[in-house]
Amino acid sequence: MNYLSTRGDATPRKFCDILLEGLAPDGGLYLPERYPQVSDAQLTELRGAYRSQGYAELAFRILSLYIDDIPPADLKRLCEKTYMAEVFGTREIVPLRHLEEGLWIEALSNGPTLAFKDMAMQLLGNLFEYELARRGEQLNILGATSGDTGSAAEYAMRGKRGVRVFMTSPHGRMSPFQQAQMFSLQDANIHNLAIEGVFDDCQDIVKAVSSDHAFKARYKIGTVNSINWARLLAQVVYYFAGYFQATQTNAQKVSFTVPSGNFGNICAGHVARQMGLPIDRLVVATNENDVLDEFFRTGAYRVRGAADTHETSSPSMDISKASNFERFVFDLVGRDGARTRQLFAEGVARQGFFDLGTDPVFQDARAKYGFESGKSTHADRLATIRDTYERFGQIIDTHTADGVKVARERRGDPAVPMIVLETALPIKFAETIQEALGRAPERPAKFEGIEQLPKRVQVLPADAERVKAYIAAHCD
Ligand SMILES: *Cc1c(COP(=O)(O)O)cnc(C)c1O
Repeated sequence: MNYLSTRGDATPRKFCDILLEGLAPDGGLYLPERYPQVSDAQLTELRGAYRSQGYAELAFRILSLYIDDIPPADLKRLCEKTYMAEVFGTREIVPLRHLEEGLWIEALSNGPTLAFKDMAMQLLGNLFEYELARRGEQLNILGATSGDTGSAAEYAMRGKRGVRVFMTSPHGRMSPFQQAQMFSLQDANIHNLAIEGVFDDCQDIVKAVSSDHAFKARYKIGTVNSINWARLLAQVVYYFAGYFQATQTNAQKVSFTVPSGNFGNICAGHVARQMGLPIDRLVVATNENDVLDEFFRTGAYRVRGAADTHETSSPSMDISKASNFERFVFDLVGRDGARTRQLFAEGVARQGFFDLGTDPVFQDARAKYGFESGKSTHADRLATIRDTYERFGQIIDTHTADGVKVARERRGDPAVPMIVLETALPIKFAETIQEALGRAPERPAKFEGIEQLPKRVQVLPADAERVKAYIAAHCD
């Protein structure tokens, strides 16, 4: 399988070539040159493999369709090492639980940091270690986080050979639980940098350091952001696992609702659907930051400025633009790289928007690709958390609540099961749960008392030069 860029560069690249890269050199995102098609017989085999051999085997088989530059025995070992019941809590890894008539929740948040990002990041950690060792190279990951991404990256890379992590976060602005999760890590290769500023300052520092090409090359600076194809590919697997748990035969369809921000999670659903997984609807759920809902309603993609990006109680969906969205648009416009370049490099980058509302291809988003969308607000979130607790005795996190709210509105055919992806556990957003229910959510035993553990963090001013000096002093 070769990979190409959404902006037209079709120089053939293999999976491991793009594994350690971010954007393609032309500014586009990488996608496979085609989506492998899964026949009915293959789907039956995958169903059997998941049931009898488990999630790691399912992951190995799906990944093998996209990766031909890692020997199969190695890839299998990497999947087995990643998707273990001891790490994710159950044999199913992503167990489905029933909520109400026709509606299910797929638990993706029982990994080390209690958010779905572990599903992909844990695999990425093992892939990075493997590939860096094979090349005899080192990588220093520099990132910015307001919570979930940074902790998932640190837990995935801790103790890995050849990798260091330098993670910036806004000093004093993450929840006490999130701070404790990250800062309690004592691994020598993990560096927490608390920046005296806001999240945007952290992102600006990462950009400034990455655009110093000499520094970037000398210190082998890389990233693990959500546009990484390997992360997206790892997420495709749990759409299959959800489908197999909700159905008995391949004649049945399911729909998914996905609490969305950067469009990474639901883009994996789009890939699964393009491979032939019988998905009816893919429902995008947003919070008050409704860039994506606006697009799927009107065809206008209008990125927001900082002033129009709201801080909400589902903070991991507080985005001003959706960094993976270009992948879907590339497919929507018939894989036309020149057109995609025009929409993003000219429309979005220059004017902050494009509008496909009057273009016939926009109808395909719904008709051909199954997309629907909806939006949820703070009041909806509280009401949904309350209602789910009172009627079913289940506490769901704020992002998942946005999903449940929108899923109920966009069910479609009542005979088709609707699966809502659970993107975090409620303990990560305890304040809002307290506000909704007047009680705190349960805390998994392994996180008892983490706020009291010793913290390993360096506070720095919002100054890229100081961050560079820190990195230089802590490499080799
Ligand atoms: C990252 C995240 C999301 C958004 O996922 P995308 O892939 O960016 O759409 C939703 N919920 C939680 C809890 C997250 O951490």
